[in-house]
Amino acid sequence: MDLNVGNVKVRKDLGATVPVEIFRILRLHGFEPLFGKSSNAITMSCGRDLGLKIGSAIMIEHPTLESYVNNVVAFFAENNIGLVSLRPEGSEFIVQVDECVSCAGVTNIGKCICGFEGGIISGIFQAFFAGSFYVKEMKCWANGDTTCEFLVKDLKEM
Ligand SMILES: [Zn+2]
Repeated sequence: MDLNVGNVKVRKDLGATVPVEIFRILRLHGFEPLFGKSSNAITMSCGRDLGLKIGSAIMIEHPTLESYVNNVVAFFAENNIGLVSLRPEGSEFIVQVDECVSCAGVTNIGKCICGFEGGIISGIFQAFFAGSFYVKEMKCWANGDTTCEFLVKDLKEM
C-alpha cells in the first residue's frame, strides 16, 4: 500500500517503526501549540485520508463486510494503532479502540483527543459504504475513560 510517505525500507538499521512516545510528541504536542482548537480537526482530516487509503486497499481483496471488518481490525493491530472491536447499535455503530496509540494511559484533561483515529474510522467506513460518516469520540483516556469509543453515523441518516 502506497501511503506517499517515502520509502521507509531504506532505514536498514533502524527499521520502519518508532516508539509510541515519539509519535505522541508529534501528535499531541506538535499540533496543539500551532493550531489550537483546530488541531483535532487537522489530525482527523489526516486520519480520514489514511482511512480511505487503507479501506480502499483492503476493499480490493475483501469486498464482503465481514472480511473487510476482519482485515481492518487486523490492520489496526498489526500497525499498533489499537485493538478494535465494532458493534452495531440500531442504525449506528460503536467502534471501540483499546490500547489506542494516541491516548492509552494519558492523563485525564477533560476532553477526547483522538481525532486521528476517528478520522481513520471515518475513512474506513467511507471507503466501504461509499458515503460520508459522522464520527464522534465518546470515550477516551484523556476524558477519564480507560478505552476509546467512537460513535459512527451515516450522514444520510442524520
Ligand atoms: Zn482517545
